[in-house]
Amino acid sequence: MASTSTSTRAPIMEVFASIQGEGAYAGEAQVFLRLAGCPLRCDWCDTPHSWSVDDERPARVVTPEGPKRHTAWANPFQVATWVAACEPREARTVSVTGGEPLMWPEFLLGLPDMLAGRRLHLETAGAHPEALRRVAPAFDHLSLDLKLPEDMGEVVPLDVEGVHGEANPHTSEDWTRVRREVLAIAAEHHACAKIVVRSGRPISAYLPLLEDLERLAPDVPLYLTPVSPMGGVAAPEPKFLEELVEEARDLHLDVRVMPQLHRVLSIP
Ligand code: SF4
Repeated sequence: MASTSTSTRAPIMEVFASIQGEGAYAGEAQVFLRLAGCPLRCDWCDTPHSWSVDDERPARVVTPEGPKRHTAWANPFQVATWVAACEPREARTVSVTGGEPLMWPEFLLGLPDMLAGRRLHLETAGAHPEALRRVAPAFDHLSLDLKLPEDMGEVVPLDVEGVHGEANPHTSEDWTRVRREVLAIAAEHHACAKIVVRSGRPISAYLPLLEDLERLAPDVPLYLTPVSPMGGVAAPEPKFLEELVEEARDLHLDVRVMPQLHRVLSIP
């Protein structure tokens, strides 16, 4: 088991200012707060270095004067000073991402007081509804990934003291249950849903996701994100995306296609 933590601390990987690349706020200048630790294994994950919690790996805080290194485990107060140090000018929206931030709910609940004056966005895989239900009121906007169970590799639970103990989804039935629970939560908050779309899946695989969104959170906008090719996972054909958009429109969903802007621009 990795080293101990108090529940209000979380392992921080990096804090940096950049341009939001996905979802409802794509193109907006934000500060990103990346937490380490994720038990999931998406086939197309572009941050596998965030999966583990490594006490020897310092937090990287990218200030206008250059990157600084700090001890990874930090509380919301410490993190707020790092966010302020990264902002080139005035305060920005802070996107909390990972890894899976829902592994550290006590830490997340401490952020609003420390980051007052900034909008707080949460980027989550949406696999842990109990944690999401607790922390959602602390955020101005939720961005939920809706996952295809067949895109997920074997779950690897985090063996770290202080991590949130909610069960991880394993089976297709588990994923259906958590998807429905997080969509019900999203319907009560300012939120968007994202689906990463890859080649090699039939339209029918995505229909349960669209149908659950239509049934449980019809006002939550949907962003279809063609995967940035990596590790043998290829982007879908444009024709496929057009067909998927039509399926979503048939369900009266507010749907858009949005490439990963940060990958297009080669920015962090
Ligand atoms: S949930 Fe996010 S960090 Fe975890 S494997 Fe999937 S894409 Fe990677």
